[in-house]
Amino acid sequence: MTNSDLYLELHRSMKCPVCIQEPMCNHTSWRIGGPADILLKPRDEQDLRQALIYARQQGLPVTVIGNGTNLLVADRGIRGIVIKIGPGLADIEMRDQIIYAGAGTPLPLLARKAMQAGLAGFEFLAGIPGNVGGALVMNAGANGYAIGELVRQVTACDYAGNSYTFKAQELAFSYRHSSLAQMNIIVTGVVLHGKPDLAEEIKNRMELALAWRRQVQPLEYPNAGSVFKNPPGDSAGRLIERAGCKEMRVGNIQVSPRHANFIVNLGGGTASDVLEIVEQIQYTVEKKFGIKLALEVQKLGEF
Ligand SMILES: Cc1cc2nc3c(=O)[nH]c(=O)nc-3n(C[C@H](O)[C@H](O)[C@H](O)COP(=O)(O)OP(=O)(O)OC[C@H]3O[C@@H](n4cnc5c(N)ncnc54)[C@H](O)[C@@H]3O)c2cc1C
Repeated sequence: MTNSDLYLELHRSMKCPVCIQEPMCNHTSWRIGGPADILLKPRDEQDLRQALIYARQQGLPVTVIGNGTNLLVADRGIRGIVIKIGPGLADIEMRDQIIYAGAGTPLPLLARKAMQAGLAGFEFLAGIPGNVGGALVMNAGANGYAIGELVRQVTACDYAGNSYTFKAQELAFSYRHSSLAQMNIIVTGVVLHGKPDLAEEIKNRMELALAWRRQVQPLEYPNAGSVFKNPPGDSAGRLIERAGCKEMRVGNIQVSPRHANFIVNLGGGTASDVLEIVEQIQYTVEKKFGIKLALEVQKLGEF
């Protein structure tokens, strides 16, 4: 089937926006990644279920992404269907100290809405550029806080379209991990709880956190946040710097001179360059300190 035949077929069977041979560099904060065979952007949960049915009927693999801010996508791209969970699943509802947010809700928007409603505890999310679904899978966090601590329950569906609800205690949230990552499911929404506080005070804390990020993070270049997890009791950035890897460069990919756990794309960098620099860092840090740094970013596609 040609690309235009495929496009017409998808257009007929699917209501949501469809892209064929879509460069994934347009959907990752690193601006890296080859083409996805098919990329779908569900406008609601019904579209999502329709996409899953289509994938099953055609025997196509499915990959789910959020805002692509924690992803290293292969230069050869991703085979099958990529489902991007974004604005179509981004409803927010608030009642008393409880917030319901769709999986596609941007974290900075969630933090702002909580602040406006006088709910504290969400401030650290203001500077994390992912969406709610990705944040729950990764248990995103900063400065000693993590989203898992705010969770009451998570709604999800499996690849056959069956719905599930999980209580927070079933999800084993820990440092940059939750059991959602192993469940082979798609997060559709979450119920979170906060603590009442004055909006003005919440705003001040949020602005302080954002100012700290602007100071220490190289936000002027495409990046994916921290590349490695911090090993117990230490910081990956400190180890990388002490191992002499700061400013290391492969092609147009560089270990940031500002923050050694950030690897930046100076323009036109590739996933294989990132992998090469990652391996060099892991080798050098392990040789010097005996610690094997584990990747925080998620590799997707045909490596
Ligand atoms: C400048 C910058 C700063 C950052 N700072 C932080 C920080 O302070 N703390 C932190 O923890 N992270 C940080 N990150 C990393 C990233 O923003 C978070 O991990 C974020 O939660 C990822 O969300 P996402 O929507 O971008 O997910 P993606 O990167 O799109 O996906 C991440 C993983 O989740 C899966 N996934 C995504 N959505 C769903 C879903 N609905 N259902 C099932 N699986 C899904 C994907 O398959 C993938 O495995 C930073 C990134 C950048 C670029």
